[in-house]
Parts: sequence; C-alpha cells; structure tokens
Amino acid sequence: MLFSRFFAHTSREVPSDAKIASHRLMLRSGMISQTASGIYCWLPLAVRILDKISQIICEEQDRIGANRVYFTTVQPADLWIESGRYAAYGKEMLRIKDRKDGDFLYSPTNEEQATDVFRKYVKSYRGLPVLLYQIHWKFRDEIRPRFGVMRGREFLMKDGYSFDISFEDATRTYEKVFKSYLTIFRRVGMLPIPVQADSGAIGGNMSHEFQILANTGESTIYYDKKLLEASDDELMTTFAVTDEKYDPQSVATQEKDLMISKGVEVGHVFHFGTKYSKAMNTFVLNEKGDKIFPEMGSYGIGVSRLVAAIIEASHDERGIIWPEAVAPFDVTILNLHVNNAICCEIAEDVYRAISASVRYEVLYDDRNITVGEKLMDADLIGVPWQVIVGSQKAQRGVVELKNRKSGEVKEMSPTEVIGRFMG
Ligand code: ATP
Ligand code: MG
Repeated sequence: MLFSRFFAHTSREVPSDAKIASHRLMLRSGMISQTASGIYCWLPLAVRILDKISQIICEEQDRIGANRVYFTTVQPADLWIESGRYAAYGKEMLRIKDRKDGDFLYSPTNEEQATDVFRKYVKSYRGLPVLLYQIHWKFRDEIRPRFGVMRGREFLMKDGYSFDISFEDATRTYEKVFKSYLTIFRRVGMLPIPVQADSGAIGGNMSHEFQILANTGESTIYYDKKLLEASDDELMTTFAVTDEKYDPQSVATQEKDLMISKGVEVGHVFHFGTKYSKAMNTFVLNEKGDKIFPEMGSYGIGVSRLVAAIIEASHDERGIIWPEAVAPFDVTILNLHVNNAICCEIAEDVYRAISASVRYEVLYDDRNITVGEKLMDADLIGVPWQVIVGSQKAQRGVVELKNRKSGEVKEMSPTEVIGRFMG
C-alpha cells in the first residue's frame, strides 16, 4: 500500500475531550472519526485491525466447532416480548418503528434471535450441541458514552450462543469457550485475567469476565497473585473478582496473596441454563420422546473495545505499539527523501521484494512531507518494523531497520533487510 493513496490522516492535535491514551491515539492516527456521541466511523487503519482480530476469533471458534452466522441488527420487538426482556431492557435499547408502525429495535445482543433460529431447525437431541456466533454491530444507548470506542453506543461485538442437552454438556461447552477466549486474547498479544462475575440481568450460575490490565480501565480487579502462573484449568477458579463483588471482610479474600489492578473488560461468558429456552418454548425431544429445554450460554468479546484496550496496554509517549498479530501492516518503509533517485530506487526495491510475499503487508511511505513528520507518523501509527531510507546512508548502500517496540535500530544493506523478511 502506498501511503500517498492510503486514507489515513494523522494529526498532532489532541482533542480536549479525549482523556485516555487510546482515544487520543486513535484520533491522532486517523483510525476513527466521530459522527455523534459514542458513534464512530472506522477508517482504513482501524478496519485492518478489526479484521485481524476477527480472523483470530474465527480461527479459534472454528477449532471448537462454533458456526459463524450473521444475525440481524434490526430485530422485531415480538421476540423480546416473548422472552420478557422488551420492557426490562430499558433505555439502553434503541427502539424503532417501521413504516407500518411495527415495533423493532437495533440489536444490543442476540439471545432471543439465536434461540428463535435454533428452534426453527433443531427438534431432536441428535441436533445438539449447537454453537452459533457472529461478529456484528450492536447498539446500546449508553447513559455516558466515553473514552472513545471503549464505551461507545455503536460497537462491534463477537457474540456466541450455545445449546446443550444437559447441564453437564453445557458445562463442557462453557469450559471449551472459556479456554478458546484465553487463546484469543493471548494471540492478540494480551494477558487475559478471567474474573468470576455475577451474570446480573442475564441471570444464571456460571459467569466470567475477561479483563486486560490497564491503568485507565473502568474496573478494579482483586486477584490472587497465583493467577499469573495458573494453568488454563486453574484459571477458572483462581480467585479474581471486580470491585462489584469484592468483599474485604471475607476470610477467603484475606487468605490470598492479593493483587489490585485496573482492568478493561474485553469479554464475558455466561451460562444461564434454560432461561430463554423455557421463556421461548424452545425444546427438543430426547430418545424417549420427552421434551427437553436446552441449557444455554452466551459468550461475548468486545471487538472494537479490544482495539482500544490493546492500545492502552501497548503504547508509549510517541504512539501505538501494535502487537505483531494484529498490526495493520507488518512493515513500513519510510522513504525520507522522495525527490532523491537513490532513496526511491532502494525504497521501491525493498517495497516490491517484501510485498511480493503473501506473509507481509507493507505500507510504503512515499509522501512528500518532512523527515520529522514521516518519522513521527511511523511511531504514531505503530507498525512493528520500520525500514528507514535516508539519503546519506543510501549513498553508502545502507538503510536502517527499526523495531518499534524495542526502539532498536540496525544498519544493514537493502539485500539484508529483504533477507530478514523473506529468508
Ligand atoms: P459493561 O459492563 O462494560 O457495560 P456489559 O456487561 O454490558 O459490559 P456484555 O453485555 O457482556 O457487556 O457484552 C460483551 C462485551 O461487549 C463486553 O465484555 C465488552 O467488551 C463489550 N461491550 C459492552 N458494552 C460496550 C460498549 N458500550 N462499548 C464497547 N464495547 C462494549
Ligand atoms: Mg453494559
């Protein structure tokens, strides 16, 4: 990709209402453009990151036999009246009338619709288990949208729904999803902290939130130090709660080697039993012909919030430091002097050679701007590797390879740089 043709408009301005680093950096790097309170357009840099995260989610959901669908963003109110949540959901739900005066809403979540799709097709125990998921936009009319896309009103969520024949099977599904979430958060370069959660309005008996540590997080997490070395199985039960559930009086709490940190909730898994299947008269027949209401669970990842959470966890005073797995590009080539023939020749050679590989996505900064601006933009945007082509070094036949994370810079020949990536 040529930067001169890439729709990424960086800026030095820091909007005064942007209180946290991720919000400032997403605006400054031209990732998002606000169109109303809590509602953002996602621009090309940001879309690349959403796609990288989504791809990782899909791979890990595939591995546990989950099926990807698209439910709808606009849903008939009838489904929610049936489950009893239409009135209960309150003002966070965006309610819509169609031209025939029918009641609709913009999806804040999809338990009802998932149950409705399930009941239309699955009539026998043989059809179970079922695990459906989507990555789709949600709308919640949050009372206080803030921190950019961290708490937006429109946001991208991965939401999954499971149906099992028994509580034991549902527990196994829950554990499978729990572990796949750990893998997903690790693959995007983060350390997930699963905390035991009340399932609140959704109601139920098993629930964890996944938190990412960040000083600016909205949650305070109390956890046993052991958690940092726990195995995936141990993580389900190692002590970790948010401030909402923390009880300093409890003996259990006093025994722990207690750590306290701020965190961002990036995922949430629930088991809620037969709440929706019963309310929506959704059943299958077992071998004996008895009606069984499936045991259900739902599983969310805040995909758009995760983008901001990754930035909170991985940035410095100059800009974003993308973990390699989700970076918008793998390499950026900075041609510092686009009017210099040698710089152009070297930069273009390296660009052509590395982008010939399907493994690498390369952003070639061919813009005619100052050296300072180019270097600042590269650090701001946070691509993991920078190949810096300056005129004096180019004369000597060398370029610089800089690692954004460590800041380490190495001089090498263009052939060595190409070899470093293609070798
Ligand atoms: P919160 O307590 O932060 O409001 P929630 O419990 O309402 O979250 P869920 O219904 O479990 O959230 O939704 C699943 C995931 O979607 C959350 O873990 C979070 O990462 C993300 N999410 C929820 N609300 C928002 C929002 N307003 N903006 C961005 N992401 C959100
Ligand atoms: Mg909420």
